[in-house]
Amino acid sequence: MAEMQGGTSRRDTLKLGGAAGAFALLPLETLQHAFAMPSEMAGLPWANRAMRWMQVAFTEDNPIDYDPQFWFDLFKRTHADGVCLSAGGSFAFYPSKVPLHHRAKYLGDHDIYGDMSKGCRALGMNIIARVDPHALSPEAFAVHHDWCAYTEDGKPRRHWAAPDLYVTCQNGGFMFDFMPKVLKEITTLYAPDGFFGNRWAGSGMCWCNVCRTKFRAATGFDLPRSDEHDDAVTRAYDEWDKQMRWAQYTLWNDTVKAVKPDGFFCPNGHMSDPRAFIPLVAIDRQGRSGLTPPWMNGKYAKQARSVSGDRPVAGLFNVGYEEPYRWKDSVQASPEIESWVHSGMAQGFRPWMCKFDAKVIDPRWVPVVEKIYEWHWRHDKYFRDTENLARVALVNSSYAYADDLRPKVADAQNGYYQALVESRIPFEMVDDRLLDPAQLARYRVLVLPNIAVLSDAQCAQLRAYVKAGGRIVATGETSLHDETGKRRANFGLADLFGCDFAGKIDEPVHNSYLTPRPPHPLVRGLENAPRIIATVEQLHVTPHDKAPQPLTLIPSYPDLPMERVYTFVTKSDISMVFCREVGKGRVVYFPMDLARTFWEVLSGDHLLLLRNAVEWAADEPQPLNVTGPGLVDVAYWRQKESLAVHLVNMTNPMTMKGPYREILPAGPYVVTMTLPPGVKPASVTLLESSQPAKYRRDGDRLIVDVPRIAVHEIVAVDLV
Ligand SMILES: [Zn+2]
Repeated sequence: MAEMQGGTSRRDTLKLGGAAGAFALLPLETLQHAFAMPSEMAGLPWANRAMRWMQVAFTEDNPIDYDPQFWFDLFKRTHADGVCLSAGGSFAFYPSKVPLHHRAKYLGDHDIYGDMSKGCRALGMNIIARVDPHALSPEAFAVHHDWCAYTEDGKPRRHWAAPDLYVTCQNGGFMFDFMPKVLKEITTLYAPDGFFGNRWAGSGMCWCNVCRTKFRAATGFDLPRSDEHDDAVTRAYDEWDKQMRWAQYTLWNDTVKAVKPDGFFCPNGHMSDPRAFIPLVAIDRQGRSGLTPPWMNGKYAKQARSVSGDRPVAGLFNVGYEEPYRWKDSVQASPEIESWVHSGMAQGFRPWMCKFDAKVIDPRWVPVVEKIYEWHWRHDKYFRDTENLARVALVNSSYAYADDLRPKVADAQNGYYQALVESRIPFEMVDDRLLDPAQLARYRVLVLPNIAVLSDAQCAQLRAYVKAGGRIVATGETSLHDETGKRRANFGLADLFGCDFAGKIDEPVHNSYLTPRPPHPLVRGLENAPRIIATVEQLHVTPHDKAPQPLTLIPSYPDLPMERVYTFVTKSDISMVFCREVGKGRVVYFPMDLARTFWEVLSGDHLLLLRNAVEWAADEPQPLNVTGPGLVDVAYWRQKESLAVHLVNMTNPMTMKGPYREILPAGPYVVTMTLPPGVKPASVTLLESSQPAKYRRDGDRLIVDVPRIAVHEIVAVDLV
């Protein structure tokens, strides 16, 4: 999916297969410290200024066959104001004097980084130099065996895709001695605004002598083997790896800053440590493949913004094909590119095209990229200095989960995400490390889709949130595990849920049903449904009181032979939801994996329950309501002098499988937006349709007709 992926990752394999428990990636207070930084630190002025990025990642043959003028013309036409250019690392694209800095094979006397950089400066663009240190040349290997990564059985690691090269060790001299020299030289010669490091953190676990010695000195352990199952060792490795990456990041960042005080190093991936206060956040999710839903790029944007505060967030995209096959020299269909980029832009990404190879083999991507960028530039002011007005937030769990829990948590998150998109409820994401009152105050409802791991401190924060009038909707194993991954005897949030865990989880449950019990709003829309499907995982719980609940269980009965597919238990008193008022707040808890089963089965009845739960908990109208056909992802933003409602058309016969071949417009829609207090609309424009909108005022609401959406319509309201 990303530029950083590919190759083997021993560390990931270990992490996925080894550690039985979960552990916090970061101490909570560290992240809050990052957020407590003064607002003037929240992004350097230039980083905030650059709205449209282009990345040209050179290939070794580019010096002989690329046309720089093509790029300068494209940057002008697209109003790109930021560029990321390959400079050095494994390959130098300038005449480097650092010993063993491998010059690109056909560089000769050229300086293509320098030439492109100069041309971009003349266009007034901001420049980030790209370095990629993951491959090692044979010449460097001959001199420095100690720069190479080694396999578990002591062999130097050849590059998996280019076997004349080797793979670098992330903990040895290449990263800690050679690369700082490269960064210093590039900064001294060209003064780029910053650096972007691709594959900077190694290519999985390395068993070289440097790694063995350093790990033993730091932890007393031998490096874990690939079949290692000792928790203590794998945990120690993960912790040590984090410390090494932090040391590497600070060395590189400080090296750059020593020459250019306002410069910085931005690592691609593998750096969730918020002490790395990077002024521009670049998220590398270049496209989708297989069954990835079309809203996924918007989700990446929300996730990134949930931990990046006010900093600008750019979303990388690629015109070529994505993982797992990476055909980068051809192009995807324009509707697919367009839909992916708009999915991200609607939720806060600035576009960042990532082009491998500076020569253009297949030019069919050019018109669609021009179209996207030109449109973005024309409506630039609606994408700047924005504040999101959503009142609902989906909690994102930052823990590294063990094998048994990971898919349950991930699928539940996608399930509730899908339900909220289908329901057109505007929502944000909240990081579980940021559950303090200052972060949560703007939200009316927090959704916890099987957030299995929560520490006591996090549970206390959620309790305080509800007591103060907040509302939560939780499913399944939420709060059933502590921060080490250990299962608790009872839910951490049992007092809010109104039930205790009875010690048993049934899974997989076949042919079990739910009985909706109207007229509670939770089962609105199911008044005529005496029996709807239940879920695959069900938790045994003991209710705290006998209050009747609107959803009860019909226990599992045979689904074969057909003659046995019946039950006399048509109603039970086993509650499968707890809807409660707690303090000034409300809580809905489903003792089953409703969101995960929804992700798997996509039952419309489950969609109703998931939507009704949020609406009953909120007990207030959503700030945005959209009626009309199909699947539409929505967002509601406010800028200094305007409001913008984003509507992304995700209705497509190919939505459920694979890429878009054509854009099928949908409509008509009626958009009802609640105006923030005190604002006065002056004009309402539809930006995709390029026409004034028909609208009327109804108290504090603005009701706008949107005749059709092709890809991404914006209802832009300019304020008096
Ligand atoms: Zn090593």
